[in-house]
Amino acid sequence: MAIQLISNSDDLMQMNNQETGLEIEIKNPPQDLIQFIGSCPRFIIAGHKEPDGDCIGSQLALRSALERLGKEVVLCSAGPFKRTEVQSYAGQFVTIPKDENTVDAKVIIIDCSDKERTGSIKEFLDKFPCAVIDHHIAVNHSESTPQQPVYIDENSPSCTLLVYKLIKALNLELTKEEATLLFFGLSTDNGFFRHLTEKNSVVFDAAKEMVLRGEKKKKIYNSIYGGKSLDSRILLGHILLRTESYFDGKLLLSYETLEDFKKYGIENRDSDILNQLMLSIKGVQVFLTIRQECEDNCAVSFRSVDAINVAKVASIFGGGGHKNASGLTMKGDISFVKQKMLEAFSSVFTD
Ligand code: AMP
Ligand code: MN
Ligand code: MN
Repeated sequence: MAIQLISNSDDLMQMNNQETGLEIEIKNPPQDLIQFIGSCPRFIIAGHKEPDGDCIGSQLALRSALERLGKEVVLCSAGPFKRTEVQSYAGQFVTIPKDENTVDAKVIIIDCSDKERTGSIKEFLDKFPCAVIDHHIAVNHSESTPQQPVYIDENSPSCTLLVYKLIKALNLELTKEEATLLFFGLSTDNGFFRHLTEKNSVVFDAAKEMVLRGEKKKKIYNSIYGGKSLDSRILLGHILLRTESYFDGKLLLSYETLEDFKKYGIENRDSDILNQLMLSIKGVQVFLTIRQECEDNCAVSFRSVDAINVAKVASIFGGGGHKNASGLTMKGDISFVKQKMLEAFSSVFTD
């Protein structure tokens, strides 16, 4: 089956915007979300499993704003808090809150719209009315009832930008802590502004306000990109040495074995720097990393440049994400998963 990865209406819309010089608009929060928040004194704010800076920054900033409106808020995450930049926040989250903290509560899920991505807390969340704030390409692989209201904008470079717009729509000014958390999330998801273009002036305007009101930008940069261990660099070396090139160098692939996983632990993964190094190679259009998580299960992380929509490939196998950054998990060992990925990409690169 040939997979059409390059042109769909969203991509065309983005290309048209680029060609015509149009600004990329970000949606405003819908009125039913404002009413959902106004109608309830107690909220559970949940995010996706294995949270990143955008998820954590959004959850914490929204909690702060809702508390300023007099709401009670509990933060939920299935964890684990494995990325170095989010580890210090783990103590502010629970997996399942105590019953007395959830009476008549409503849920807001952040940075994922498929409830399966919340991991082990999904069944607990299913008991409550649920809103979603997300910026991933909308897919719902789970059987759970659709959430309402939804505030989803695939054009937003981070969830924190949507939370920023929500805080404004709630007629609040950013506090220093909120501005810092929002900038932290925004810059983790766009590679410290590497992935933005001149069409994103709305985002730069918001970032300016966050920088002026929040902690020093350099401190936030160091909290994301500093603090790595020597082992994380040695692991990076192993992964780089295993790189394989396919389709005349348009697709590069590497992998992390179960032995690496046991020896270095997940906390020594630094996929951001790995992706950055691989995508800077001349002619590369896609880079993917296969990570064996147990004997018969792997996670695959995709990155692409320009027109190739890797979220579409991931969604064929039950995963998802964004046009240029996506992921999936799949049964099988590294060689099986590699074969599946090469088959999926062959129709794109051999045309
Ligand atoms: P990663 O490569 O893990 O940084 O993930 C890149 C993007 O893909 C993120 O936006 C994730 O939310 C998304 N993603 C990663 N793994 C999955 C998955 N198993 N299912 C759906 N989306 C995923
Ligand atoms: Mn995320
Ligand atoms: Mn995000």
